[in-house]
Amino acid sequence: MGKTDLKSIPLAALYGFVTDLGEPRFRTKQIYTWLHRRHVASFSQMTDLSLDLREKLEEKCYINSLTTKKKLVSALDGTVKYLYGLRDGEHVESVLMRHHHGLSLCISTQVGCKMGCRFCASTIGGLKRNLTAAEMLDQIYRAEQDQGEPIGGVVLMGIGEPLDNFANVVDFLTILSSPEGRNLSLRHVSLSTCGLVDKIDELAKLRLPLTLSVSLHAADNPGRDAIMPVNRQYPVEELLAACARYFAATGRRISFEYALIRGQNDSVDQAHALAARLRKLGGREMPCHVNLIPVNPVAGRDFRRGDRDSIRRFQAALEKGGVNATVRRELGADIAAACGQLRRDSIEHGL
Ligand code: SAH
Repeated sequence: MGKTDLKSIPLAALYGFVTDLGEPRFRTKQIYTWLHRRHVASFSQMTDLSLDLREKLEEKCYINSLTTKKKLVSALDGTVKYLYGLRDGEHVESVLMRHHHGLSLCISTQVGCKMGCRFCASTIGGLKRNLTAAEMLDQIYRAEQDQGEPIGGVVLMGIGEPLDNFANVVDFLTILSSPEGRNLSLRHVSLSTCGLVDKIDELAKLRLPLTLSVSLHAADNPGRDAIMPVNRQYPVEELLAACARYFAATGRRISFEYALIRGQNDSVDQAHALAARLRKLGGREMPCHVNLIPVNPVAGRDFRRGDRDSIRRFQAALEKGGVNATVRRELGADIAAACGQLRRDSIEHGL
């Protein structure tokens, strides 16, 4: 039998694991603290455990830690990109952004992605595997160690589709927010999805206080089919109905991502159509917000962004239609752009 990935186990389940080893319950919190507060890389560093227990853990378990392979710092705005190496030789990346209110980190949830969005670099090459909870947590722990200050917000918007890795993401969120763990309130966490309706409903049942971000990118089915294959399984009406249910269950405002692609989804008529759809959503009481992202060009894909005026016109049309919209500030433009690009570079050109 393979060794157990101890750092991926939430505290509630870890109690069972430790007592099954024949150890007293109180050892559990000690181990959990070493892993999630002190970030040790080996069992020998857990100095308040008996030697016997440390040896037992060594034999049956492992601690999953990432190695920093590359760090790029933007000369424009201080944004940092980390390329991390995983135990099996795969790579993922995280992006650290500095805002006036503190640091936020955009993390990856899978190695690659199978969702196939046409404009996204992460999906080229498909899905390799899911990340474990430990591999998601360690992106945060490493970045905090490197920065020497805590990260105030986490967004699941890097490589991968978080809801396609549901169980591990939920374990990750549980550990991240547990008072004995990293103790980060899920109010400071955003989870971004391309729109897996069944999983949005599953997430709603958990009533977590996180912000759900939905990558919409088109308000009509033909337009969304053309750029997001997931739309053929879960068309726009079904996705928006799930968003309304999500809001009804959690009371949390939903945020919509809309990457503006020149000539594809950025006309004023399309803005009106988007506003009309969102206004109908869940009645007047349901607040939502649209983040407009000028599309990041990806090598090998011929998507272009419109000029500044066309982006402003789109935003103005949305606001006139009663929908809040902001244009996302571009960060780290000089250090390899859209999500998944650093990993692609490392695959294509070596590190
Ligand atoms: N799979 C999840 C999260 C990862 S992608 C999702 O689809 O939401 C994070 C966000 O970046 C999504 O809104 C995605 O659509 C967007 N994105 C991907 N490639 C992009 C590009 N080239 N330009 C602008 N936004 C992009």
